[in-house]
Amino acid sequence: MYRKYRIEGLDDSISVKDLECHIMNYQDIKHARIQNHVLIADSKNNLNIHDMNMWIQKFNLNIKINEMTHKEHHNHLSHDNNNQKEQVKELEHSIKFSISGLDCPNCAMKVEKVINDLDYVEEAILNFSTQTLMVVSNEENLEIKLQNVINTIEKGVTITAKKVRLDVPRLFVVKERLHLIIGLICLILSLFIKIEIINILLILCAYVIIGYPVLYKAYKNILKGQVFDENFLMCIATIGAICIGEYFEAVAVMLFYSIGEIFQSYAVNKTRYSISDLMNIKSDYAYVYNGHEYVKKCPEDVCVGDRILVKAGEKIPLDGIIIEGQTTLDTSSMTGESLPQYVSINDKVLASSINLSDVIVVKVTHNYEDTAVSKIIDMVENAALHKAPLERFITRFAKVYTPSVVVMALILAFVPPFLIKDSSLYDWIYRALTFLVVSCPCALVVSIPLGLYAGIGKASQIGALVKGGNYLEYLKDIDTIVFDKTGTLTKGYFNVTQVIGDDSLLELASAIESMSNHPISKSIVSYYGKKNTKYKIKDFKEIAGKGVSCKINNDLYYLGNAKLLHENGVDFSEVTHNGSVVYISKNQVYLGAIVLEDEIKESSLNSIKSLKELGVKRTVMLTGDRHKTARHIAEKLHIDDVYSQLLPQEKVLKLESLLDNHKVAFVGDGINDAPVLARADIGIAMGNKGSDAAVLAADIVLMNDDIDTIVKTIQISKKTNRILKQNVVFTLFIKIGILILTMLGYSNMWMGVFADVGVTLLAILNSMRILK
Ligand code: ADP
Ligand code: MG
Repeated sequence: MYRKYRIEGLDDSISVKDLECHIMNYQDIKHARIQNHVLIADSKNNLNIHDMNMWIQKFNLNIKINEMTHKEHHNHLSHDNNNQKEQVKELEHSIKFSISGLDCPNCAMKVEKVINDLDYVEEAILNFSTQTLMVVSNEENLEIKLQNVINTIEKGVTITAKKVRLDVPRLFVVKERLHLIIGLICLILSLFIKIEIINILLILCAYVIIGYPVLYKAYKNILKGQVFDENFLMCIATIGAICIGEYFEAVAVMLFYSIGEIFQSYAVNKTRYSISDLMNIKSDYAYVYNGHEYVKKCPEDVCVGDRILVKAGEKIPLDGIIIEGQTTLDTSSMTGESLPQYVSINDKVLASSINLSDVIVVKVTHNYEDTAVSKIIDMVENAALHKAPLERFITRFAKVYTPSVVVMALILAFVPPFLIKDSSLYDWIYRALTFLVVSCPCALVVSIPLGLYAGIGKASQIGALVKGGNYLEYLKDIDTIVFDKTGTLTKGYFNVTQVIGDDSLLELASAIESMSNHPISKSIVSYYGKKNTKYKIKDFKEIAGKGVSCKINNDLYYLGNAKLLHENGVDFSEVTHNGSVVYISKNQVYLGAIVLEDEIKESSLNSIKSLKELGVKRTVMLTGDRHKTARHIAEKLHIDDVYSQLLPQEKVLKLESLLDNHKVAFVGDGINDAPVLARADIGIAMGNKGSDAAVLAADIVLMNDDIDTIVKTIQISKKTNRILKQNVVFTLFIKIGILILTMLGYSNMWMGVFADVGVTLLAILNSMRILK
């Protein structure tokens, strides 16, 4: 788990590099980097800071390591952003709420700000698209307190700690819109009544009935000193229109605005619903064996070790291993892989796969929260934490845009009448009011985050989990892609092609390698095929990027590459065969070697070609394997550059040297790759066979381990960015156009309303295209 810590007392007496190395020697630290007095450490679960400080003191170093508060985390994070990407992946320990009743992003921003300002809240993030609120706080009764706070800001917004399934959105609920109907009737009546005073009264009635919700919101906001929002703008514009005698226009504008809002919130909900549908991949129930029969239970209540029955046509509710039966599975919801997969006894199955043909019994291996699918849903929901640059820009833009338009409207109303002879004040005020109607930045504020979110949803459908809008935005600009070899470009299942040495060598190697999870180890073990009962293995050590060592009956064994054995004083001559070689020694005596060959994934060659066509300029391969094998594979795949025999930390250095002036993605399967993944502009991990550390450190996870998914994700990234840019350009074009027409006197309030709600609606509909 990567976390950040503040380092106190760091001065020139020790170099940062030395300190890094030093800290990496600490028992609980897997990897450490230091930047701006901040230690970024990958540690075993709970790093005890106190113990670590005690350990540091033993070496007479005058530094102290401290936990960071979330605010510090965040500051360091946004500071980082200028030159490199965020390293902290989510709000740890946050409490998650579902929030409902929010349909304008402005209100969402307001709620988020107010909650953030509470002194008992360390940090709060509100995701408008998924309707979730994440809060870091130790306060008791948090839900009730937050609800009270929210009640004072937004009527009808509620939070619950439970996960709420989104309802199918409905366009028009008569009960909720009764006021619009009554108002409309008043307005129509007024058309037929010619007595002026009654006519005016009817129109004013219609105005109040239709506009009441908007007026009320504007009033509440003014009381709180938050003046410039769309409600306020609509109120001044329409009240202004009434003041200059344009009664009918005032009501009509208010009516259109309200109808526009209905469509807008419908479109937003519809998009949200489609996205949540994409991710609606978990199952509602599980049939669990209680000793006599199978009973229906919530997946949340099933324990590890339980046996569950999955019938044909059902979703598998939890991750597990098949213990009875065989069937075909549709795993597309997780992997995007459309071909059915045949599975039988002892095969692993993942929750959310659909059982296509026969009944199977599965032994549950993970609790519900630990299933791959719930982790995925969590990750995607956290995606909004990483705001894309465009999204940040729009938020900042909206803040200055509205007040400037109001100032311009004031100038427009009162300056020209004095400068231009014979002009009527009435005309200019009318123009200024139209100006106000046009000015709401809603179209951008709603459609941009929604579009990014749709892009993330779409990517999840093809098996790529993108952990933030920013990564989706960066991805289109990637010009260099760096690949790990084993397990990334190649399948990671090695075939043993030759055993050099006596007959018992394979058995010995398999026994020792059974302690490791490295692809080479697993392949040797499965090639030998029998369990180890003969050897008692002690002091087993993994030497990253080199191999393994252990003791059997006080004899010291090394298994690994040539470097490992040479370093340990073993004298031997290297094998010249093609492939990867594991050399074996006992007490510095060379015993022999095992030669293995890995197959290139079928899709690798074509995917690398497609990546080039998509604009990736350079492809690079990094590997710990020997030069000969690396070059052979790179040539086959047309990879531009290859660097081999690298240790994991050398991979980081190599990658750093590639970062200059380039946007670099690193693709790895994870064994030893987490530091490189974290360091690249975008880290892409294989999620299926990849290690947990890699999945955590990566920004994009490929559930199907297929490089081709990167190609498709880049295409989604490009499409999303294109659509979002269209929205920005289109919105600004129409708005600025109508603002200019207004200044010149060629527009009216009706056009103003179109420029506001019409454009917003079109922008949202355009964002929805991403899902297609
Ligand atoms: P890659 O960059 O291909 O993922 P690694 O950095 O994991 O490779 O390992 C580099 C080399 O070290 C391997 O090619 C292999 O020769 C040796 N090696 C690493 N781990 C092991 C192991 N568990 N057993 C045998 N050899 C190993
Ligand atoms: Mg690897």
